[in-house]
Amino acid sequence: MKLTKCEKCGGPTAEGLPLCPDCMRATGAAVDQIAAAEELRDIARVLSITADTDANIREAIVGILNIAERLERGK
Ligand SMILES: [Zn+2]
Repeated sequence: MKLTKCEKCGGPTAEGLPLCPDCMRATGAAVDQIAAAEELRDIARVLSITADTDANIREAIVGILNIAERLERGK
């Protein structure tokens, strides 16, 4: 997953989503769709860092993602 630019405002959005969460909100998208878009964008942000950082940082990020996933499941 990568970050791309929003078609409307040029802000960051996840690959595959033409509009960023803010523009989705402006078009009247459902709250849960916006929340999902925000989550995807944030994941894409993290993954875009890992693309060219060293192994230690990548390992740390994988750890953080795993913790986040467990927290998410415990909800
Ligand atoms: Zn936008």
